[in-house]
Amino acid sequence: MAGSLKARSPGLERPDTIIRKTIHHMGSNCEKKYYMHWVLWHWPEIVGDFIARNTSPQGIRKDTLYIYSDNASLRNELQMMMPQIVQSVNNYAGQKMIEKVAFSKPWEKSDSEGIDEIRMAPALVEENMGRERQKIPLTADEMQAAEELGATAGDAEIGMAISGLYRKYLQLQKLKLSRNYQCCPKCGRLMEPGTLLCSSCSRGERERITAAVRQVLRDMPWARYTEVRQYVPECTPKMVNEQRSIMVQKLAADTDVNDKESIKAKTLVMLYRCLPPDKLNEENITRALYNLRFDMHRPKDYKTPRRYEVIKLGRR
Ligand SMILES: [Zn+2]
Repeated sequence: MAGSLKARSPGLERPDTIIRKTIHHMGSNCEKKYYMHWVLWHWPEIVGDFIARNTSPQGIRKDTLYIYSDNASLRNELQMMMPQIVQSVNNYAGQKMIEKVAFSKPWEKSDSEGIDEIRMAPALVEENMGRERQKIPLTADEMQAAEELGATAGDAEIGMAISGLYRKYLQLQKLKLSRNYQCCPKCGRLMEPGTLLCSSCSRGERERITAAVRQVLRDMPWARYTEVRQYVPECTPKMVNEQRSIMVQKLAADTDVNDKESIKAKTLVMLYRCLPPDKLNEENITRALYNLRFDMHRPKDYKTPRRYEVIKLGRR
């Protein structure tokens, strides 16, 4: 892709490409800020003048772009157009920067707050697809479909904005098809060549697998990866470890630090040490819970005992 771009414009780089490269060399935090501002600055070009006049982007946290609008009917209409807006933003940023757009109140501190939380996918789209998109012609039928969608809006100006967004969306679909984007086998959304599922389906898939892993660990807290795999063949050792430690943290926070007897405390030890119930004894329970003491629920007047008060000297 980069090769063909170079071939088309030999010796000449577009200013935004140069800026991107410079920013890239300045480090990832700076890069995030740059793409963030890129979106905020170019909001009218991304969504069109009408929407831009009636909305203001507040910032991006994690994978969500938050926008504020005091126009209730526009909010309703835009709700329908969210997937297109997400695509437009990502194309403008030149990479998958957001997954969702949500409405919010105006932020007190806009733009760079929470900037560290922006999730950055590797830059798969090397050039600004927005410009390429503009050159993609639409058929009469497609233009008609855009008009009809716009006509469903109650308001003429909103209708125009919606038709415009829909036309952009259709152009983008064509552009992607011309670049060998494939349909996601699950949802049909277009995804980059070489991927098995689109980003939203693969996230859903991951969530499904990790939920199944947690279920196995709830039933058999001592299960190690090899056992979990028998029930959830798609899981990886990393997933099992991650889910185990999340569950340990949650259960520990919910278990009193002086509790060594309850089912909860014993489940915590089984989970933490991968010990089946018949391998539990006073010593390994005491040691495991001592290790977890800072993660456990502590009463107000609790003083951490010294190690030798809990675990006898000379034993391991
Ligand atoms: Zn999908």
